[in-house]
Amino acid sequence: MKEKEIQDLKKLLTAPQNIVIIPHKNPDGDAMGSTIALQNYLSQNNHKATVIAPNDYPSFLKWLPSNDAVVIYDQETTEANQLIEEAELIFTLDFNHLGRCGDLESPLKKATAIFVMIDHHQQPDDYATYMYSDTTMSSTCQMVYHFIDMMNDLEKITPNMATCLYTGIMTDTGSFRYRSTTSTTHKAIAHLIDLGADNTTIHQKIYDTNTLAKLQLKGVALKNLNVLPEYRTAYITMSQKELNQNNYKKGDTEGFVNIGLSLEGIVFALIFIENEQENIVKISLRSKGDFSVNEFARSHFEGGGHNNASGGKSDLSLEKTIENFMSILPEYKTALLKS
Ligand code: 5GP
Ligand code: MN
Repeated sequence: MKEKEIQDLKKLLTAPQNIVIIPHKNPDGDAMGSTIALQNYLSQNNHKATVIAPNDYPSFLKWLPSNDAVVIYDQETTEANQLIEEAELIFTLDFNHLGRCGDLESPLKKATAIFVMIDHHQQPDDYATYMYSDTTMSSTCQMVYHFIDMMNDLEKITPNMATCLYTGIMTDTGSFRYRSTTSTTHKAIAHLIDLGADNTTIHQKIYDTNTLAKLQLKGVALKNLNVLPEYRTAYITMSQKELNQNNYKKGDTEGFVNIGLSLEGIVFALIFIENEQENIVKISLRSKGDFSVNEFARSHFEGGGHNNASGGKSDLSLEKTIENFMSILPEYKTALLKS
């Protein structure tokens, strides 16, 4: 963010404001960690700040401090619409175009508030007055840490805020493994531990909460793993029927896409998950090296994200989506073999 913007925002935040903070649809650890931490920070400074999530999120995130104060748009629509109407400032976190927040898109487009974007995805849209967009950042949580630093308020990070920020940095970096993890990330993490984030407990709360159903679902994913060595690609399909048979709950398939990527020699991995309720197939894409899944998702599946992690969707049936995918893949053969 430019120095002038930082100074302007600082000034704006000296008087109490009505503030709404929005994560993307199907929020993950980074989206919930960053929005809740920012909400805690702004509340300390006498603002009235509320997190409004477009829809519900997985139970492995429900232990986050202040989780109970989050308003879920598709469950508390009237209250949320009122908060958005009254808002003077709207922070949008961990996404960069309003289409990413589902049914919240329309009330946000009508809102009169000043928008602030904090985000680390590629190709941001131009809806925010204040834009802190940095694609080199590991996570939006790391950016919220730097944002609080820009406001000269690092000492205001409470143990609860440190816990939220640690969680999002950890989940978005695959526990500090991905290339976006820098020494600056580790310095922020070290500071967050000093400020009260209990690192071991956070890892356990996120990763050691398997249910038998989830492990059985993983068995189905392993059985459905298709490997295409000639394209250095692996993909998994999950039909709605398979999800139902295994008592699927939101978040149960989180991380499954990485199963394919862990195979030696594979640089491109996908998971196609049928969602009958929304009448779509939701797609998660991951890559290693130079192969851009952001470009792939953007060009073919109405999606986007980062170079090595992106998402998208298809309106075709699961079967037709795979057929379509298989017809596209040859175009990318050279790029995949080079990656
Ligand atoms: P995931 O596969 O874990 O849902 O998402 C991977 C990355 O891609 C995340 O950074 C997420 O925000 C982004 N992403 C997921 N789905 C979409 C989508 O439909 N559109 C865009 N633009 N980004 C997405
Ligand atoms: Mn993120």
